[in-house]
Amino acid sequence: MQGMKLFNTLTRKKEVFRPLKGKAVGLYSCGPTVYNYAHIGNLRTYLFVDTLKRSLMYFGYRVKHVMNITDVGHLTSDADIGEDKLLLAALKEKKSVWDIAAYYTKVFQETITELNIIPPSVWSKATDHIEEQIQLIEILEKKGYTYRISDGIYFNTSHFKDYPKLARLNLSDQKAGARVKENKEKRNPWDFALWKFSPSSDKGEKREMEWKSPWGIGFPGWHIECSAMSTKYLGQPFDIHTGGIDHIPIHHTNEIAQSEAAAGKRMARYWMHAEFLVIDKMRMGKSAGNFITMRDIKDRGFSPMDYRFFCYSAHYRQKLSFSWDALAQAHEGMSNLVRDIKSLTHAARNAPKGSESAGTAEFRVEYDDKFDAALADDLNMPKTLAILFTFLKRIHGMRETYRAGDYQSLHRTLLKWDAVFGFGIEKYGAKALPAGISSLVKQRNEAREHKDWKRSDMLRVKIEKRGYRVEDTSEGTNVIPL
Ligand code: AMP
Ligand code: ZN
Repeated sequence: MQGMKLFNTLTRKKEVFRPLKGKAVGLYSCGPTVYNYAHIGNLRTYLFVDTLKRSLMYFGYRVKHVMNITDVGHLTSDADIGEDKLLLAALKEKKSVWDIAAYYTKVFQETITELNIIPPSVWSKATDHIEEQIQLIEILEKKGYTYRISDGIYFNTSHFKDYPKLARLNLSDQKAGARVKENKEKRNPWDFALWKFSPSSDKGEKREMEWKSPWGIGFPGWHIECSAMSTKYLGQPFDIHTGGIDHIPIHHTNEIAQSEAAAGKRMARYWMHAEFLVIDKMRMGKSAGNFITMRDIKDRGFSPMDYRFFCYSAHYRQKLSFSWDALAQAHEGMSNLVRDIKSLTHAARNAPKGSESAGTAEFRVEYDDKFDAALADDLNMPKTLAILFTFLKRIHGMRETYRAGDYQSLHRTLLKWDAVFGFGIEKYGAKALPAGISSLVKQRNEAREHKDWKRSDMLRVKIEKRGYRVEDTSEGTNVIPL
């Protein structure tokens, strides 16, 4: 294998992945804003991050993964105006912002557990890192990147020459971006807030979320948290930064400006972005009101694993179109997979131990190589899934020729691949044979030892009627669920 290739948004190319420090990888993912339930579009992006992380681990890397929880500063408009999304939710639900944040964080963490997403090594909450954010703004201030206007401290993008590099922005296009028209006091349309003043603190009114700072009482802008927390936990530069594609022109562009202007060095080496989940050709979004949650999926009788399977039907850089029909197809695919996996797992668990035959070893290595190549090619999950299906189909077709040890080696391959798929295969078919079946198999073996073929056949039929097939091999008897 030539090494993993990952598509880097910075260069718009697939690049061979080389971490900064040996086999250790620093990965930062922009996490949820916890004012509402995550929708399945958001979850597609987190599943992409999970696949990336699992793939890195599969290829032998150790991953330190940091994910932030945005619990302050994400305003309703990207133009740095409007109200904090959490405050609005608190008002609507008649709760404190802290209760809102705690509740939606908990639900988010439960949801990713259901999807078998490996939790990050570090969860970092924006409100736990106000001090670090203030310190970073102070550095930017000292270096001359900031200015003050009536509602806050802003980043002067005209002082940072690399500002357009990630999104390939055309800065002379004054109309581009949602941020252009909104704030008349800004010096450049692309400038963004680092610190916002509490709107009525001068009148003595308290806001639920506000902190003292060298510039006045207020709260951090949305982008500064990721710059402050990624440096704190991963250093600068770190290896990979992820998010959805909507983050390219604003949030990630601003993160780069803050971190790179402050430290004078690169923020992250590889920037990876997941495409949108769409519904009726429109991006699924909270504001568009066309969103579906994990609860809706479960209410219709589908499982989180069906959704995981569904997400593998498109490459992460392609749009994926959601419909209930498409999810039903994924459910069908997942059910077939579980059936085949169960059958192989049973065979591997219940077959007597033995060595692998040369033919099986050759077949297994061939498929292992195919799997690795597809995965290393910028995480081609639709292809790895197709490889898994063909692998299982061929195993099914060759069954009669298997020796006992073949089942075990093929099953080990399946488990190894599942470290990437994350279906949780080890739990399928984990049960030993039911006691009644074991006893029938034992009686049948005794009959065979006494060459009582009539009784042996009768017991075989009996076992089959209970849903298990019996295969006699030179190394013993395999019992496989039908
Ligand atoms: P938010 O909680 O709104 O900050 O979004 C969380 C993550 O979901 C971000 O990385 C977004 O880029 C991503 N995201 C938002 N909408 C979609 C969508 N329709 N499909 C895929 N990812 C999305
Ligand atoms: Zn971020």
